[in-house]
Amino acid sequence: MDETIIIGSGMAGLTCARTLADAGQPVRVLDKGRGIGGRMATRSVATASGRLTFDHGAQYLRPRDPEFAQVLAQAGMRPWPDGPDHGRQVGMPGMSDALRVLADGLDVTQQIEVTSILWQDGGWNLTTAHGALRCRRVVLTIPAPQISPLLGCAHPFATQSDHVVMAPCLTLMAAFPIDSPRPFATRLDPSHPLAWVAQDSTKPGRAQGAVTWVAQASHAFSNEYLEESPDDIAARMLPLLAEVLGLDPARALYVRAHRWRYAHTSTPLGQPFLRNDDRTLYAGGDWCLGSRAESAWQSGRAIARDILGGAFVD
Ligand SMILES: Cc1cc2nc3c(=O)[nH]c(=O)nc-3n(C[C@H](O)[C@H](O)[C@H](O)COP(=O)(O)OP(=O)(O)OC[C@H]3O[C@@H](n4cnc5c(N)ncnc54)[C@H](O)[C@@H]3O)c2cc1C
Repeated sequence: MDETIIIGSGMAGLTCARTLADAGQPVRVLDKGRGIGGRMATRSVATASGRLTFDHGAQYLRPRDPEFAQVLAQAGMRPWPDGPDHGRQVGMPGMSDALRVLADGLDVTQQIEVTSILWQDGGWNLTTAHGALRCRRVVLTIPAPQISPLLGCAHPFATQSDHVVMAPCLTLMAAFPIDSPRPFATRLDPSHPLAWVAQDSTKPGRAQGAVTWVAQASHAFSNEYLEESPDDIAARMLPLLAEVLGLDPARALYVRAHRWRYAHTSTPLGQPFLRNDDRTLYAGGDWCLGSRAESAWQSGRAIARDILGGAFVD
């Protein structure tokens, strides 16, 4: 039987795993996604213009806690000189690479989805498509609305987290020829359907044969078109992006949309994690304290410290 299984290889899960492993605790991380990082996501695609990368989740991190700033520096993050200001850090060569560094040496398995968790005979049974797993302790670091499908809607964690609100975000990735106009590095306009537009290729370490753009739709636009297919979402967002940039949409070399169903927390839990009485079940993530990767880091660290029984002092 495994000692601790953490579900989620995002910032919260990996921070928790790293802290436990560094204290000598055996820990295993499972994630249903293809790559490490969760919403700190980077898509890499081979095109006729060479390999292109897009940070289609978190754009940059702006650390407030000096300890978090140190973690980011150790994970190889660097300032984004063309970004909105110099305090904004980006992963190298993509946002997800920072979490890959954090995961170095940890036991992490991707593409394994946990579909149910049940306490039985002094341990937790986890159901996955690859068979059952058993462990003494489970740490869930998944978006709050995904907790009740795993534990059942009558579970105390489901009721304790049901006032947490997470909003969606539709994201467009688009590449244009290297000689195309680049009117700005970033643009924030919450009143526009494309509330955030960033020239991703201005981030350091991105070897690009094209100008790459990432656009995030506004709250209203994301809610309205959430259930459309990614192709239909891309078809809606590309003309908007082309208009903002003053470009012909037909010149796009690559276009894809991504649907983040649980992108940002609008109402957080208000405490760093949930825990059962015997400390065998925890739930955490950014949604506990806020909507940024730093909140996820705080939550993951707080869970690990609680498991280690107060061995750390703030
Ligand atoms: C479009 C967008 C832009 C953002 N911009 C910024 C920004 O500029 N700055 C910033 O600080 N933050 C930003 N954020 C927020 C930031 O990305 C998150 O706060 C942070 O990454 C959350 O980390 P987490 O570990 O809590 O959750 P996640 O990163 O979501 O990790 C949860 C993991 O759990 C896995 N999982 C879920 N269910 C299961 C299951 N049943 N079985 C196995 N695995 C499962 C998922 O695959 C995922 O990898 C942005 C987010 C989005 C979506």
